[in-house]
Amino acid sequence: MDTIVIGAGIGGIAVAGRLRRAGHNVTVVEKADHPGGRADFIQKDGYRFDTGPSLFLMPEVFAETYEALGERMQDHLELVRLDPTYRAHFHDGTRLDLTYQMPRMREQLDALEPGAFGQFLKFMAEGYSNYHLGLDKFVGRNFYSLAEYFDLRNLPLLLKMKALVTHASNTKRYFKDSRLQAAFSFQNMYLGLSPYEAPATFSLLQYTELGDGVWFPKGGMYRPIESMAQIAEGLGVRFEYGTAVRQINVEGSRASGVTLEDGKIMRADLVVANADLPYVYSDLLPDDGTAARLHRKKYTSSALMFYWGVKGAKAPELLHHNVFLADDEYRASFERIFEDLSLPQTPSFYVNAPARTDPSFAPENGDALMVLVPVGHINAAEPQDWAGLRERARSFVIERLEGIGVKDLGSRIVLEETMGPPDYLKKLNLAKGAAFGLSHNFTQIGYLRPHNRHPRYKNLYFAGASTHPGTGLPIVLLSAKLTAERIMQEVGQEKSVRSNLAQPVVLQHERHE
Ligand SMILES: Cc1cc2nc3c(=O)[nH]c(=O)nc-3n(C[C@H](O)[C@H](O)[C@H](O)COP(=O)(O)OP(=O)(O)OC[C@H]3O[C@@H](n4cnc5c(N)ncnc54)[C@H](O)[C@@H]3O)c2cc1C
Repeated sequence: MDTIVIGAGIGGIAVAGRLRRAGHNVTVVEKADHPGGRADFIQKDGYRFDTGPSLFLMPEVFAETYEALGERMQDHLELVRLDPTYRAHFHDGTRLDLTYQMPRMREQLDALEPGAFGQFLKFMAEGYSNYHLGLDKFVGRNFYSLAEYFDLRNLPLLLKMKALVTHASNTKRYFKDSRLQAAFSFQNMYLGLSPYEAPATFSLLQYTELGDGVWFPKGGMYRPIESMAQIAEGLGVRFEYGTAVRQINVEGSRASGVTLEDGKIMRADLVVANADLPYVYSDLLPDDGTAARLHRKKYTSSALMFYWGVKGAKAPELLHHNVFLADDEYRASFERIFEDLSLPQTPSFYVNAPARTDPSFAPENGDALMVLVPVGHINAAEPQDWAGLRERARSFVIERLEGIGVKDLGSRIVLEETMGPPDYLKKLNLAKGAAFGLSHNFTQIGYLRPHNRHPRYKNLYFAGASTHPGTGLPIVLLSAKLTAERIMQEVGQEKSVRSNLAQPVVLQHERHE
């Protein structure tokens, strides 16, 4: 079976490898000159930056993908477990190091709010339950009908997982202190969501971080991309880089292949689109009204990204992962992003400083900082002044970092690269420049999320962040798995790609203070 995969993001690579193993003749066409999509890197003047994902979560899902491709994760990734996972800096100068060391957690949490440690344990227990129920019953499976999704057995589970309660209001039930409410809900920002809209089910994020761990693949977040692409290539997948698809060709109820930007036509028995799903409907397929419906859906935030090569000593105030929380204006800041589609007056933001774990990221007397400032996605009706917003975010972050002791940061930046919503739109074809794709509010998850097969063109499938189950590297790997499984079921290949989640692998532990 001749199969074309459009896009070599992590979802495209994984689905291509799985289908190749099942006997398909797979070609991946990717507009960029290398794989990765949002999970890219910059290497310049002795500095290295992961441009997108920086948090390696749910290692068992990565391990399962390597296994499905016939390899072992530990032969390709050297994973280091980070402890503390993050440092959260609050606006009043206090901070919280999230750590697996329970006595230290107790000491810190109870100092911020007496009794908070006990509440934290209950919160984690709920996150643990949400994680396992969510993965087994909702995230890790395909839904083929609404009745199946709202099955009588599933409804009580949706309620148990608090799918109809917001993450922010749920966090409030556990913690009175606004700093802790922020510290246990900001993780939604990593999925481009507002905790005031995201279902409380997402407390599973805090569980994964502290329960299963935050990991770092030595060499950086591009390691999984390049190793999976190499494995897929070794299996016989053909990657054609610098090859943009202009349209998906359709005949009746089938996709017959693609037309490339240069006019070349490639025929196929099956097409899998890894490019952002709303963009595929609006730009690559004939208009049937779906694109306009998708346009009206909720989208995740975008991000103003800064990649700074800094000369001089590495600031001890920063750990590998750092968040700066505007807890005095926490709620308002999300309204600015998700309602006004702009930049908050006092933005919360994230700083990634991986040279503390992997010295190859920066010269000996230097530091490599990646800064993510969440911002609204593109508003076509009232275009934003991105240069102005970027300048404001830049000054704010530098001032805030200098305020916690990162001395003379502004004058020590010797290399600067940036990315923002227009880049996500133009470079990566992400609808509205929304960095994380379609949002994950209750009406856009599970069966209610755009499906991984086109309703009319029965041999056109989707794998990636804007289809089921959603965004984030491990979740997109699950998307690739579910799409490959569905293809296997529907086109009836002789060889199955099904495989159970791999047994937990032995991972290397390291501690970072
Ligand atoms: C700033 C940022 C931080 C993030 N942080 C994390 C994190 O810490 N942890 C985490 O797990 N996840 C994180 N994510 C999310 C994660 O990066 C994404 O969910 C994931 O990479 C999406 O993969 P994908 O395969 O669905 O899509 P993509 O990576 O977008 O890949 C799609 C590919 O399709 C190609 N393409 C598009 N149009 C065409 C066309 N017409 N022809 C040919 N090719 C085309 C694109 O060039 C791209 O390579 C982050 C994302 C961003 C942007």
